[in-house]
Amino acid sequence: MTGVTEREIETPCGWCGNAIVQPARGRKKRYCERSCRQRAYELRTAERRHQGDVDAGRIRTVPAQRVVERTVQPRRPVTVAQWETALADLAEQLHAGRYPWERHRLRVALAAVLDALGHPPPDSWIVHGTPLTARPDAAPEPPRPAPPAVLDDALAAAVSAVAACAGPDGIDTTLTRLQALTGQPVPLLRDALHALADADLAVLRRHAEPVDDVDALSEHARFQLHVQRGDAAAAV
Ligand SMILES: [Zn+2]
Repeated sequence: MTGVTEREIETPCGWCGNAIVQPARGRKKRYCERSCRQRAYELRTAERRHQGDVDAGRIRTVPAQRVVERTVQPRRPVTVAQWETALADLAEQLHAGRYPWERHRLRVALAAVLDALGHPPPDSWIVHGTPLTARPDAAPEPPRPAPPAVLDDALAAAVSAVAACAGPDGIDTTLTRLQALTGQPVPLLRDALHALADADLAVLRRHAEPVDDVDALSEHARFQLHVQRGDAAAAV
């Protein structure tokens, strides 16, 4: 009789599946290394804990339903009847006191509608002095003089000082007197007068004629200066 014995020489690791060479005698290895045994242990522990929670009713075995919110965009009116309904709805909401702080926006929108219908919106709908709608047939705004891009602080101070001295009533003066009045040096005063004239905020006259070139004006030559705005520095 022939006895057949079988011995496992290699088995797969219970965690990673790598081959484990089994020892010829003694206890069989289930994991190839300690880290595999540790991970398998952690998984079994977690599974036991999870099952414990299920048994104790702390965990639902059937998950809750997913809740989906679907937002349906209201369709914009496309017929006159639909617009009538929409506008009547709006009127009702306004009567009910809705949108108390944003009514000017509605006025702007409605002004455009009235305008498109051929009825210019009333002046009382004009907010902050600005026309609500840019009407295509409105007269274009007169072009504004292009101010110098950057006005440095010293020049701005000189412009302010000159504007404060002259004012809308104007003064009869000379560059030397302006220097005494403003404490600004004559070259800077010339620059300030240039800037004001370029922005159409100042008018200089000498012997009833406009002064074209401030640089040609001698320091003691008398001239009349009118400045149209008190806040000329900001405007220049
Ligand atoms: Zn392993």
